[in-house]
Amino acid sequence: MRDGLPTYGMANLGTTGRPSRFTRWLANRIWNERTGVRASEDLVRLDSALRFGALYALTILGPILLLGYFGVADLLSGEASLTAEITQEAESTIGSCATDVEEVFERFEMATRNRLLSGRSLVEAPGELSTHLLLTLRLDAQGQITAPFDEPITAPPSDHTFFLTGPFAQGRRIEGQDPALAAALYRIAAKQAPGMTSEGTAALQQARAMNGAGFTREAEAAFADIVAEYPSARDAWGFLVADLARLERGQLLIEREPEIGVGALEAVVDDILGRRWTIGQGGEAAVARRALVLMEGQADPDWLASRRSRVDQRSHQLYWAERLQRELDPLTAGGRLLQMAPGRFRYTLGDQALWATAWFDDELYAFALDRAGLFEAIQAAANRAPRGDSPVVVDVLSPDALSPLGALARRSLAPWLPGWTLVAKHIDPEGLAATIRWQRARRIVLVLVAILLVGAGGLITGRLVSRELDLARLKTSFAANVSHELRSPITQIRLKGESLQLDLWEDEDDRRRHYDAIVRESERLSRLVDNVLDFAAIERGTKNYTIRPHDLGITLRNAVQSMRISMEARGLTFDADIPDELPMVAHDQEAIAQALTNLLSNAAKYGAQGKWIGLSTNVLPDGVEIYVADKGIGIDRDEIPRIFEQYYRSQDPRARSLKGTGIGLAIVKYIMEAHAGQVSVSSTPGRGSVFTLFLPFS
Ligand code: ADP
Repeated sequence: MRDGLPTYGMANLGTTGRPSRFTRWLANRIWNERTGVRASEDLVRLDSALRFGALYALTILGPILLLGYFGVADLLSGEASLTAEITQEAESTIGSCATDVEEVFERFEMATRNRLLSGRSLVEAPGELSTHLLLTLRLDAQGQITAPFDEPITAPPSDHTFFLTGPFAQGRRIEGQDPALAAALYRIAAKQAPGMTSEGTAALQQARAMNGAGFTREAEAAFADIVAEYPSARDAWGFLVADLARLERGQLLIEREPEIGVGALEAVVDDILGRRWTIGQGGEAAVARRALVLMEGQADPDWLASRRSRVDQRSHQLYWAERLQRELDPLTAGGRLLQMAPGRFRYTLGDQALWATAWFDDELYAFALDRAGLFEAIQAAANRAPRGDSPVVVDVLSPDALSPLGALARRSLAPWLPGWTLVAKHIDPEGLAATIRWQRARRIVLVLVAILLVGAGGLITGRLVSRELDLARLKTSFAANVSHELRSPITQIRLKGESLQLDLWEDEDDRRRHYDAIVRESERLSRLVDNVLDFAAIERGTKNYTIRPHDLGITLRNAVQSMRISMEARGLTFDADIPDELPMVAHDQEAIAQALTNLLSNAAKYGAQGKWIGLSTNVLPDGVEIYVADKGIGIDRDEIPRIFEQYYRSQDPRARSLKGTGIGLAIVKYIMEAHAGQVSVSSTPGRGSVFTLFLPFS
């Protein structure tokens, strides 16, 4: 039975082709013990299910899975590429910013080496090496400053009371009124002075008072003596007494003999600039500036400008040397600087300065760079960094700053600025997150919409295909049903005709019954053929009706007449109530008669068990309703919408057991629509049905 399973019973099942080998193999596995037509039906169903499954997998599931897969992959790669793009942008921005910083230091180191090569002093004019350079110091191996300044003098404080009491104080009081007397008093004070500071100061005051009293030449000589006698004495305010004396002398000379005066003052300035100043003492700068002011208009302007600038620079350095000296100590402590490779810069961060230290030949240099200024310059470079519509910003973080959230890239500024970092971040980190979220949502929606479209498209296609397959199956069974329907009246006519021909019936009544039967079967045959031909014409679109006003009563009575005999022959009570006065209605008589005949023959067929068939009419304002009722098997509620479809036959086994083609009601529906009317049905399964035809007046 293995192979017999699918081979018969198939022609009646309306399959659209032979089940595949695979289906047969599978069916043999599943229904090994079952045989016959039932198994064949299952086989066909299994085959369709498998074909459908394959079709769905190919047209719906496959594309949905692919869409889902590529959608998710695209989503992930889209996000990754957005992040990668921004990170790359951040890297490149931070890179260019770091290059700017690198350049600042390279330029400084290069300038330092060039200055050395050209033989100029490194400690002079720090501004020329770098705009950020505050101070350059030369140190010895112990870290003591050797140029351009001396360490602060820790001299014992001078005796201030000397200047406030005795002849010195008296001299100060009367100097305005009597300079000559004041000079005498200062002379006494100088003799009594307790040390070089007081002695030098008193001598200087004496010379000044002499000048004030008009003894110019004597005063000039006195100033010259002071220069020789007190070369290193400083007064109570930190001024070198000798410097002050030279300044005063120069001032005297310039009034009398300008050239000699200018020469003397020039010597004062150059001498001060050629000498090392002392950290914590600002006297030199003040004396030099005063000398330059005195020479104004007398000396060469270029010379004046160059000296003024040197004095300014030296004063500037002195100021910073004083402020930063404390920061230098930890740098030099423990001989750490000695371990540095010659010619290489080492950078150390102090509180106010960034210290660059380097050995050149046997000399150690410490360069103090302006930490705050550098920070500002680097931040400014960082702010300049974003070009065009770049969403990246760069921040400079000093060692004590907190790292920002959402940093995309960072770059250490070591070795130049140990502990400092450049950090690149998105200009609006929350905006970036929102953009990523939005893009993700958009992609998800797109993928879902695409999946939905494919799914919906697949479902619609599936339904259409399934409908077409249904129709194909129905058509096949239609052909079988028609041939079956044809055979039965033909057989009846032939049998009855032959029996009459052979004179088998002697009784006149018997012969009459057989003649009637032949007429009945012929009518049935002709109805069937009419239906099939009409249906074919309807399907081709060539069916035409001649709709003209006629007496509806006549049409109905004609139709009823031919049916009555066949119904009564079957033992059915036919209750036809057609009023005499039915209005004129535009219709095709043949077509309406055909519609009515189809309904009546259905009622006779499916309503046989109720043994009663009713026909009645009702005139409405807009048309006439014709009712065909029976008390038969009725129609299942779910099937009502389908029975008017072409080829459709009820699934109810009681209806199926009766012969039929499935086109009768389809033709009725078509005819009624051609008349702008309609057909409807109300039915209770097991209790009967009422079909209603509605024919409108217009
Ligand atoms: P058929 O040739 O099968 O009768 P029809 O188009 O005339 O085709 O009818 C379609 C289906 O409607 C029938 O198969 C039957 O199941 C159902 N049907 C039609 N008329 C009746 C009725 N009076 N009572 C119950 N079922 C009916």
